[in-house]
Amino acid sequence: MKTELILQALEAKHPGEHEYLQAVKEVLLSIEEVYNEHPEFEKAALIERLVEPDRIFTFKVPWVDDRGNVQINLGYRVQFNNAIGPYKGGIRFHASVNLSSLKFLGFEQTFKNALTTLPMGGGKGGSDFNIRGKSNAEVMRFCQAFILELWRHIGPDTDVPAGDIGVGGREIGYMYGMYKKLARENTGTFTGKGLEYGGSLIRPEATGFGGIYFVVNMLKTKGLDIKGKTISISGFGNVAWGAALKATELGGKVVTISGPDGYVYDPQGISGEKIDYMLELRASGEDIVRPYAEKYGVEFFEGKRPWQQKVDIALPCAIQNELDEHDAQTLIDNGVTCVAEISNMGCTAEAVDLMVEKGILFAPGKAVNAGGVATSGLEMTQNAMHLQWSAEEVDAKLHQIMNNIHEQCVRYGTQANGYINYVKGANIAGFMKVAHAMMAQGIV
Ligand code: GLU
Repeated sequence: MKTELILQALEAKHPGEHEYLQAVKEVLLSIEEVYNEHPEFEKAALIERLVEPDRIFTFKVPWVDDRGNVQINLGYRVQFNNAIGPYKGGIRFHASVNLSSLKFLGFEQTFKNALTTLPMGGGKGGSDFNIRGKSNAEVMRFCQAFILELWRHIGPDTDVPAGDIGVGGREIGYMYGMYKKLARENTGTFTGKGLEYGGSLIRPEATGFGGIYFVVNMLKTKGLDIKGKTISISGFGNVAWGAALKATELGGKVVTISGPDGYVYDPQGISGEKIDYMLELRASGEDIVRPYAEKYGVEFFEGKRPWQQKVDIALPCAIQNELDEHDAQTLIDNGVTCVAEISNMGCTAEAVDLMVEKGILFAPGKAVNAGGVATSGLEMTQNAMHLQWSAEEVDAKLHQIMNNIHEQCVRYGTQANGYINYVKGANIAGFMKVAHAMMAQGIV
């Protein structure tokens, strides 16, 4: 494959879109071998078509703050690829949101969704709106203004948004309420909805639970158990919360959480009411974790990342590129066994290369965090059937899906020396499914 040429052309076309180019490069390098076995892919310019989103909507979002001032944010929806099913992926509200980050997320989502085995294409959206310090009324007005533009581009069989960083149950509720008013239908269209109006049980927990189910499978390949292992987690939002809940339930000990202000180290373990307190931290809208340290009398490390602590398992659960080569080296020096991204692209490319080179158990977000979107797929199914499954039923399906994704990674990623390269495994498995679906549907 002309990987280098394709990447160069892409860079020339989209200069400065670092995260997007980083995500594309990782996938192209992993699939090179299998791609070369299929000359028909090259003839169909499959890669060139796959790396560009189908379309992007960019719009302004004017809204009025509590003081009567007019505020303008930018809104986006990247409809990346619908070869397998309707565009599906979250909406992110965060100051860092721009086209590069949303294109990287939409690209990753396409392969992640393919891995779930459910019929979902890939998409992503968001805004540079910063939820921090905003009143409830401001959040509602913003969500309504955002949907006033987006609603005409989405629908239960076209594009189904969900939550992501800065978008939880409250924001989904406000967006869905406005969507329904404009679209005059009630068929789901968003996932991550409240239980009273079409949401699925276990959806809030799903990304974290699924991530831990995956980690348990990774450990099993080495004859290890999560029980008794120390775990560092970054972030303190929905994903970190779900991961802490399940890891603790299975006997692991979570010793860190983090925010933009720094991280807390709780050597006794973050369990029970301390996990509930994470929800309070998030609901405060302050975007800080220092109050945890004050409340429970533990150490707070200002402006630092949790990766400097010695642990058995490290789980990035916040934002992209928050674990770099230096952090990876520290973890390795401290004897880490397993690193798994429950966030999207939590590690830099250099960090991933280092961990793979050193033979650390490492798995990428598109496999590890796929439980969130998989359970969104299950929410869509329940909506289409007009019923609601029990928590046990959803959890069992989620567990099964995560086991299956792990199996796919093992099948496509096991090297001659026995090392499981999960990056390669996930990329090849996801790519082959999307590639076959695209080939079957012609040049469109
Ligand atoms: N934002 C989540 C992700 O990155 C969930 C997407 C969804 O449920 O559609 O996969």
